[in-house]
This record gives sequence, C-alpha cells and structure tokens, in this order.
Amino acid sequence: TYVVTEVCIKCKYTDCVEVCPVDCFYEGANMLVIHPDECIDCGVCEPECPVDAIKPDTEPSLDQWLEVNRQYSETW
Ligand code: SF4
Repeated sequence: TYVVTEVCIKCKYTDCVEVCPVDCFYEGANMLVIHPDECIDCGVCEPECPVDAIKPDTEPSLDQWLEVNRQYSETW
C-alpha cells in the first residue's frame, strides 16, 4: 500500500485524490490519508503529490504513518 506522510499536513492540494482509480483517499484531521486495505498499489498518486508526501510502505520507517493512515481512514 501507499502511505501519506507528515508533509501532507495542512497541504491543500488534492491532485492525488483525483487520480486514484479506487477512491481510497480519506480526509483525516489535518491531512489526507490512504486506506491501506483499499489501495491497489498502482502508484499513480505518488508523482502527483506536489509536496512529495506519498510513499510506498516498503520503507520500514513509515510504519507509524501507516498506522495513522489506517486510523484516520477507518474513522470515516
Ligand atoms: Fe490510489 Fe493507486 Fe495511490 Fe493506492 S497507489 S492510493 S490505489 S492512486
């Protein structure tokens, strides 16, 4: 899955949401998140993000952000 990270906080762009083929972006408290079970790993959103906030979860340092993405996306 792909993960939205901290640089998204207070970012107002929604380019990523528009390109996602499965609509798995959700609005968290102050950032967008990706529902980890709905993301199909297509990677289309990653280059669309103007602040480079979207990363593949293959980076172990992102575990904490993966959890944030899951929690926020399941609140809605
Ligand atoms: Fe949507 Fe693809 Fe990005 Fe996953 S990787 S959030 S499916 S655009």
